[in-house]
Amino acid sequence: MTNGSEPALLARELVLLRAKPGSKEDAIRQAAQMLVAGGCVDAAYADSMVRREAVANTFLGEGVAIPHGMGEDRHLVHRSGIAVLQVPGGVEWNPGQHAHLVVAIAAQSDAHITVLRRLTRLIQDRSRLVSLFVTDREQDIVGALSEDTPAQAGGKPAADLAERYEWTVAYPAGLHARPATRWVEIARSYASRVQVRAGNQLADAKNLVALLGLGLRAGDSIVLSADGHDAAAALARLKTVINSLTAQEKADAELAARRRAMPAQGWKAPEAQPAVVGIGASPGLAIGTVHKLSASEGVVPDQPVSLSDGGALLHEALRATRLQLKAIEDDTGRRLGAGDAGIFRAQAELLNDTDLITLTCQLMVEGHGVAWAWNQAVERMAAKLAALGNAVLAGRAADLRDVGRRVLGHIDPTLTGGTLEQLPDAPCILIATDLSPSDTANLDPQRVVGLATAHGGPTSHTAILSRTLGVPALVAGGAGLLDVAEGATAIIDGQSGCLYLNPSAADLDAARAYIDEQQKARAREAEQRSQPATTRDGHRVDIAANVNLPDQVSLALSQGAEGVGLMRTEFLFLERGSTPSEDEQYETYLAMARALDERPLIVRALDIGGDKQVAHLELPHEDNPFLGVRGARLLLRRADLLEPQLRALYRAAKAGAQLSIMFPMITSVPEIVSLRETCARIRTELDAPEVPLGIMIEVPAAAIQADALARHADFFSVGTNDLTQYALAIDRQNPELAGEADSLHPAVLRLIRMTVEGAERHGRWVGVCGGLAGDAYGAALLTGLGVHELSMTPRDIPAVKARLRGTELTALRALAQRALDCETAAQVRALDGADA
Ligand code: PEP
Ligand code: MG
Repeated sequence: MTNGSEPALLARELVLLRAKPGSKEDAIRQAAQMLVAGGCVDAAYADSMVRREAVANTFLGEGVAIPHGMGEDRHLVHRSGIAVLQVPGGVEWNPGQHAHLVVAIAAQSDAHITVLRRLTRLIQDRSRLVSLFVTDREQDIVGALSEDTPAQAGGKPAADLAERYEWTVAYPAGLHARPATRWVEIARSYASRVQVRAGNQLADAKNLVALLGLGLRAGDSIVLSADGHDAAAALARLKTVINSLTAQEKADAELAARRRAMPAQGWKAPEAQPAVVGIGASPGLAIGTVHKLSASEGVVPDQPVSLSDGGALLHEALRATRLQLKAIEDDTGRRLGAGDAGIFRAQAELLNDTDLITLTCQLMVEGHGVAWAWNQAVERMAAKLAALGNAVLAGRAADLRDVGRRVLGHIDPTLTGGTLEQLPDAPCILIATDLSPSDTANLDPQRVVGLATAHGGPTSHTAILSRTLGVPALVAGGAGLLDVAEGATAIIDGQSGCLYLNPSAADLDAARAYIDEQQKARAREAEQRSQPATTRDGHRVDIAANVNLPDQVSLALSQGAEGVGLMRTEFLFLERGSTPSEDEQYETYLAMARALDERPLIVRALDIGGDKQVAHLELPHEDNPFLGVRGARLLLRRADLLEPQLRALYRAAKAGAQLSIMFPMITSVPEIVSLRETCARIRTELDAPEVPLGIMIEVPAAAIQADALARHADFFSVGTNDLTQYALAIDRQNPELAGEADSLHPAVLRLIRMTVEGAERHGRWVGVCGGLAGDAYGAALLTGLGVHELSMTPRDIPAVKARLRGTELTALRALAQRALDCETAAQVRALDGADA
């Protein structure tokens, strides 16, 4: 496919049918002549193409040759283009190898890869390829080499298999490695063939690289289809998993957007100007000596061994690497968390790629050594991924090279190319072209205090890992970064992405003071997280965690949680393919309460709809799901969902669980009245104890009418995520508006204030379980507004507690009043610290 503004790579005039070159050189010169005539190259390019044959083999296989010029002669290329000589009788390219299509390439930038990608796809369709050797229509050849889709016999559209499921990619970051790995795992657990089609492109759903190669972005329409005795089950399970991953993907994207929208607070050097400005990838400030990693372009020797020995060696190396990656996954999971561990699971999946193994074997059959063949195959596949022009896939190329290096080390331990072995003893700031995820995960933060890479992006696995490790990092520093002198003293600011070189004594002093302050703050937080969030003037705020599963409770308690303020039960539905039975729900609620050991537990009734779609419920499509039948509105329409859940909850209460029930998305009094009636009936039927019944305040109408609602609800919990969305009329998932969807907007704060006032009139307490509660400054403001309980992601608890313990309620009240009077969210943010 060509970009409308650029000339096509191949035009009819550049195809010569029924050519009869006398020799290979004659064929090359004829093709070169066409490129010259087409204005693609200078006449001297023909000699360059001939010279290239002396140093490289341009026979691609299957009757196709791809002559092209020397790299250093690229200046002779005026524009990218290809010329094709069709030679029905064939021309001998190498002894025993005949070319029927001579595809001469004149390439600037990555056009070469584009042509190769199309050719390799074409080669897989032997019958179509052979038809091009004899066709008498130039257009057939132009068409075949202009398609980015896999070649289809007779131009027929790609066909789906027997069972189909259509889906529009709803992952904001597209289908990247981690969700794709889950798809592949599920597809593999069934015998049926499963494929994914996007337009006319097909991929085997059991092959990760093929799946990633589709380059699926949010909004793309795809069809999953399957064929075989368990096809229907395979698709049903895939559908469930795909949809359940959507919620997680959206939550991740929201969090990332919120983080990006946060103002870059931080450090300012009193004197120095930054020497390098990249993209901040992991916040924090560090001082160290520059240590540069030389790019380990280790040459992999080509030492042929017998095919059977080579095959055995490869098999064993792959097995050992899989075991090693499993161990790294486990270790990373324990040290850094399951999300980061998934990076290595996705890497292990790359090893199962059949194309990679096939290519390695082909090269070995051609007589190459196993290490060389493996390395070539990895490099070729990585180049293919990198050339697709998609940042996510370019990131996978880095993963593929990383995992490829591991395998190489198992084939021949001298080829490991360990880059981080000779680190200096003093704390260093590591500078590298790029760094592999494996190397990053294994960094010792005591020795490597900062990390700066010339390439990479803030969403690369390397950046994710450095954030988890707490090592300040900048990425995309550019080639100039590599000119920095080894051993220079530097300050790295991972928040702003700046590297300062040879700082003055004043800069160093300022940086040391800042780092010292940050360290002290972290130490204080750790020490204080088990203490209650009591302000200096003795006002206690209850601090709870947002936790969905019993086995996550212990982590929350270790972070200082005093209970669970929000258990999102829809996740019990989202993560499995069916509605959990009443008994299963009962077990889960009871287990949750037991894990909390009498601490408070607020279970939110199902909040389905909006961004949380449960595929197996097959709810009707809505044009505006956030304004549709979601939360309490759905519960009131679906007794089959509401009543088993309430029965399970009351049975758990009867068995001793200390719990409260909370209803989401309440907009008006009749809703809560009706829900209460159902609760009362079920409680009576079960002879269960009374439990507090609360509601979420997520809609402006509920905040405005809080006094009326407070008559009927025992407590309120403000969902600031939705309240912000509905108050500001900003879709909470719209990345474009993420910076404006600010819960500190004075309008949102006024709605919270109204909620507190309404609740006070009837002696009810108010909590907040939306994202604002986990923001230390937000928590301070909410306390000043009169909120009694804050429930948040467990890792946010220490900083929130520290913030509240360091201030006074009277100061927070004054702060809140000033915030309510502000005109903009920015003004509210600017008040941060005014209570100190
Ligand atoms: C909220 O809206 O703030 C909230 C806590 O609910 P959820 O994020 O699950 O919609
Ligand atoms: Mg909500």
